[in-house]
Amino acid sequence: MRLEKYRKDFPILKIKINGKRLVYLDSAATSQKPKQVIEAITDYYQNYNANIHRSIHSLGEEATKAYEEARETVAKFINAEKPEEVIFVRNTTEALNVAAFGLRKIVSTGKILLSEMEHHSNLIPWQQLAKINNAKLDFVGFDQDGYLKIEELKQKARNAKVIAITQASNVLGTINPIKEIAEIASDAIIVVDGAQSVPHMPVDVQELDIDILAFSAHKMLGPTGIGVLYAREELLKKMEPFIFGSEMIKEVSFNNASWNDLPYKFEAGTPHIAGAVGFKAAIDYLQKIGMKNIRRHDQEITDYALKKLSKLVNIIGPKKAKDRSGLIAFTMNDVHPHDIAAILNEDGIAIRSGHHCAMPLHTKIGINASARASFYLYNTKQEIDLLVKSLEKVKRVFEK
Ligand SMILES: *Cc1c(COP(=O)(O)O)cnc(C)c1O
Repeated sequence: MRLEKYRKDFPILKIKINGKRLVYLDSAATSQKPKQVIEAITDYYQNYNANIHRSIHSLGEEATKAYEEARETVAKFINAEKPEEVIFVRNTTEALNVAAFGLRKIVSTGKILLSEMEHHSNLIPWQQLAKINNAKLDFVGFDQDGYLKIEELKQKARNAKVIAITQASNVLGTINPIKEIAEIASDAIIVVDGAQSVPHMPVDVQELDIDILAFSAHKMLGPTGIGVLYAREELLKKMEPFIFGSEMIKEVSFNNASWNDLPYKFEAGTPHIAGAVGFKAAIDYLQKIGMKNIRRHDQEITDYALKKLSKLVNIIGPKKAKDRSGLIAFTMNDVHPHDIAAILNEDGIAIRSGHHCAMPLHTKIGINASARASFYLYNTKQEIDLLVKSLEKVKRVFEK
């Protein structure tokens, strides 16, 4: 990968923090944006800003075209059969809420199977659905190395109506075998949290044979405030909308309304048009590099970091880079993760510390919090060396 060339596209990577050049290792929380994305958004606001779908005038037509092109780009990116299967929402969290609420009649009082490594966004919507419906929640565990227990999943999947699972854990880093899970549970509705996978590897919904996929633009070089709910057309037709109002209706009387066709049934109100434009630019950028190349780069950086860090910290999750996405959560004996992050910040290094929206996971492995370094296409091995140097400093400070 021509890293230096790509790095130049990200204006923020030039800034200094505490007098040091920024080392941004928090892409699992949100990614940085290349100038191509920033410029696409500015271009929209400067040259063709208008509301979509209801105007006859030229700007309205141009904005509508750009918005629908973004949908087509997303559909192709994940290999959805049709653009109508792509619903624009705010983020992964909203997508999973729309999915859970939308499935409430279909799930009824059945069983919802989750894993113990879910982000709160793929846990709480199902908890709420279970409470409303008297449905049953069940969980598949993970082993000491952070791998999903597949045999346990085979047992528990038998009578599950829904299996909602992350493709890549934002704490363990584990990449789960989604295709195998979809094969095991061919009768269940398979909902995949793709927040950490879609930005980092090729994801093909037809090849994986899944029913629902959720992800956010902001973790894949795009703007905040826009994300995707993908679902199979026949499922979307059966699902209930979650937000009501304009754009999502067909006919309205004072006492009743009928729903619009897909995808508009799920897109009430004026959407994030500029966001969609920026999102398209982000996907174009990723595709120009190639998702396989991005995955390979992530793996190389992760492999390098695993080797360097394993002497220094307690790494959480699988030992092999090939089984992980590009992030490493860790702890240091006797040093609170917040202190680690604060000391690294003095050196201009941005990492995350806390429970990373996965409290039950942390409880399960017997800790309250962890530190997490996460990588993307703009990170270099030199930056990992700086991370290591800074962590050595943390050790020295706390060993005094
Ligand atoms: C970030 C993340 C989410 C939530 O994404 P939002 O964009 O904040 O809604 C959900 N699941 C995983 C695995 C994540 O990493």
